[in-house]
Amino acid sequence: MLGAGITGCSTALYMARQGYSVTLFDQARQPFEGSSGWNDGKLHLGYLYAADPSLGTARQLLPGGLLFKDIVEDLLGGSIAGATTPRDEIFLLHRDSVVQQPGIDAYFRRVSDLVRSHPDAGRYWDDAARRGATPLTGAEIAGLAPEGGAILGGWRLPERSVSSRWLARRYIAALAAEQRIELRAGTRVLGVRPAAAADGLDGPFRVETEAGPDGPFTIVVNALWEGRCVIDQGIGLAPAPELTHRYRYALFIHTARPVAQDNALIGTGPFGDVKAYGDRDFYLSWYPAGLVAEGRDAAPPPLPALDEAGRQALAARILDGLAEHLPAIRRVADGAAHTDVQGSWVVAPGSGPLHDPAAGLHRRDRFGIRRTGRYVSVDSGKFSTAPWMAREVAAMFRGG
Ligand SMILES: Cc1cc2nc3c(=O)[nH]c(=O)nc-3n(C[C@H](O)[C@H](O)[C@H](O)COP(=O)(O)OP(=O)(O)OC[C@H]3O[C@@H](n4cnc5c(N)ncnc54)[C@H](O)[C@@H]3O)c2cc1C
Repeated sequence: MLGAGITGCSTALYMARQGYSVTLFDQARQPFEGSSGWNDGKLHLGYLYAADPSLGTARQLLPGGLLFKDIVEDLLGGSIAGATTPRDEIFLLHRDSVVQQPGIDAYFRRVSDLVRSHPDAGRYWDDAARRGATPLTGAEIAGLAPEGGAILGGWRLPERSVSSRWLARRYIAALAAEQRIELRAGTRVLGVRPAAAADGLDGPFRVETEAGPDGPFTIVVNALWEGRCVIDQGIGLAPAPELTHRYRYALFIHTARPVAQDNALIGTGPFGDVKAYGDRDFYLSWYPAGLVAEGRDAAPPPLPALDEAGRQALAARILDGLAEHLPAIRRVADGAAHTDVQGSWVVAPGSGPLHDPAAGLHRRDRFGIRRTGRYVSVDSGKFSTAPWMAREVAAMFRGG
């Protein structure tokens, strides 16, 4: 198993429970140090992709989002309710949104219908998915955003988010308790090749690492996210079309005392959001400040680490950008006992800036599992879809 993010860890747990001995490789010191450990954990039902009016993105994201809770609770052996945002999330329409009224209202109604009619709709939180989107009143919007500012409308969306930091700790514990999983942390993967010249993609395979070759392995699952394509190309899989890598920083704040703060997202385009997982753990993001690198190479280049001055400057820019629209979030920053300024890669097919309605990045339905023989490459697409896709990968190898 290559990559100890939510995709690799979920697949490893499933495969181990099917009786396989699993070797899990990751370059980081521990699992969930890539994008899976440092994102806001929105469990997508499709509402955010109004710039894809075909509903293709919503349809592709929906099954994984609806089943996330059930699958992860099964894998971790316990409830994730304590780490989940407790209320419907608020969507605020920015005046520069790439989709405006009445289009966005119509889009939300179409997604609500799609969600309600899905056979798994009842498996999301507290039946929340069946409620659909409801518009906020003018007074509710005025309570959140400055009057006369950039916010033109608002809705309550029945989506939940889960703290990726909390989930990281639970996954690490679940992996440690699984005797059939051996973790090779701190091990950078350089390539995969058939174990012998005559062996093709039906295996067995050797995994080339900075520490030397490892294996043989009967199955390889590549869940390396930003590192995935280079390994696929090395073993002869055709490259995925027009991938873009974007490195995004956000703030992960733990406050000394409880702070009352709603979850709110400003859309649609390059804006930001705040997530409150309970009343002491928060995620704050402002896209124009947090986006620090972007490229189309098969593998993104290593980025320089932030020094303390850079960290503080970036945190201030994220906070200022978001507080201009949601002034109350300054209370979160003022109450911080601990702030992590953390970034990771977003990998997605398509290109172009998010402020452009025609940008290919607004479509997020082109992810999935590619299998050739006993080599599998997983583009999980989203945190919310990864456990569902891990279950699909494991099902391919049930019974040997
Ligand atoms: C700021 C931000 C916010 C986001 N918000 C959301 C959200 O709200 N909802 C949502 O659904 N998704 C969100 N995402 C996307 C989400 O984080 C990813 O889709 C998801 O975490 C990918 O999981 P993964 O397991 O496939 O990859 P990762 O978690 O990135 O795991 C891949 C692992 O591979 C390792 N690796 C890479 N290359 C190598 C190599 N050569 N050798 C060894 N190890 C290697 C990395 O260290 C990493 O641990 C967000 C992403 C970002 C950056």
